[in-house]
Amino acid sequence: LLIGVPKETAAGEKRVATVPEVVEKLIKLGFRVAVQSGAGDAANFADDTYRAAGAEVLPDAATLYAQADVVFKVRVPTAEEVAQLREGSTLIGFVWPAQNPELMQQLAAKKLTVLAIDCLPRQLSRAQKMDALTSMAGISGYRAVIEAANAFGRFFNGQVTAAGKIPPAKVFIAGAGVAGLAAIGTAANLGAIVRANDTRAEVADQVTSLGGEFVKVDYEEEGSGGGGYAKVMSEGFQAAQRAMYAQQAKECDIIITTALIPGKPAPRLITAEMVQSMKPGSVIVDMAAEQGGNCELTVPGEAVVRHGVTIVGYTDLASRLAKQSSTLYSNNLLRLTEELCKAKDGQLNVNFEDDAIRGLTVVKAGEVTWPAPPLKLP
Ligand code: NAD
Repeated sequence: LLIGVPKETAAGEKRVATVPEVVEKLIKLGFRVAVQSGAGDAANFADDTYRAAGAEVLPDAATLYAQADVVFKVRVPTAEEVAQLREGSTLIGFVWPAQNPELMQQLAAKKLTVLAIDCLPRQLSRAQKMDALTSMAGISGYRAVIEAANAFGRFFNGQVTAAGKIPPAKVFIAGAGVAGLAAIGTAANLGAIVRANDTRAEVADQVTSLGGEFVKVDYEEEGSGGGGYAKVMSEGFQAAQRAMYAQQAKECDIIITTALIPGKPAPRLITAEMVQSMKPGSVIVDMAAEQGGNCELTVPGEAVVRHGVTIVGYTDLASRLAKQSSTLYSNNLLRLTEELCKAKDGQLNVNFEDDAIRGLTVVKAGEVTWPAPPLKLP
């Protein structure tokens, strides 16, 4: 089969779904690979490097879609992109079926087979190598700290210099899932004092092992809502949490928020009043900006200054590290392709006996197969 890699069309998107190194490995699995000219430019992968890896470089999207049996993408396809996909072909990339019901109908109408990388059952340890949500969240958490450091007017680490003694920056991380843990590790490596909080108490040890201090909310309530994800907390818990966050806002220089609850708007954790209480020159990076924001004053996609505090609401943190994110995403898709092509014969076997494959197949030959039945875990 021919795997086609188009240039991403979303505004500002710099990632590409396949990097040259992975092209070579796909060819070893028996596939042919075609890349749209310029697809990797924004991530520093030139057409020539794809050619050297054995890919064909096609002049435009129309030519590519007309030939591809399988399309590898990063972003959710637009209606124009779906229109170009060949009937009966296979699409692999982010889809978010719950948020995109119309798109799901369009994909089914074209008799496609669609593997949504965002629907991978992450609980399966076997699925980790394919988990693009984790690899992208890790990069975003790292980049959030870099954005914070860039907007902050001081060092992260404490220093004693001839020109004066400088205290370390204090960083507070709200939400210690994949992105939050990456942010904790990065900020600690830069020498900051790092504190973190999560409603799921079980992450406390992970926070500590990365060099952070876990700050508890003074209220007993189980925070796990199943599958390792969070739930909406009671009013009582939320009030106690607000009191603790208000205290952290006064003490800390940088707040990075990452809190999400599946299927719900992001919890509001940082109020305008808390922003106002922060020291001038402080920074907030709100990683939940796209899901409504953890901070009341966040503007999605922008960095704004409110009450002397820079509030960064960028929604493209992974794309801002395009070479790294393209490489890891591309490796995740390669691992998935290996699972789909055990015979190394350049064909895809979408095997519903395999829990991981079943979970992420949202359309099979035109039939909507999402949502997958719940996993039976031992
Ligand atoms: P996420 O992006 O859904 O949420 C980010 C964090 O915000 C979570 O830790 C959540 O508990 C926290 N949060 C939610 N509401 C909050 C609130 N009001 N206050 C403070 N914190 C709040 O989570 P994620 O990063 O995708 O990770 C979800 C879970 O999946 C984690 O347990 C992670 O370890 C697990 N996971 C497991 C695997 C695996 O087993 N292979 C792979 C990836 C992720």
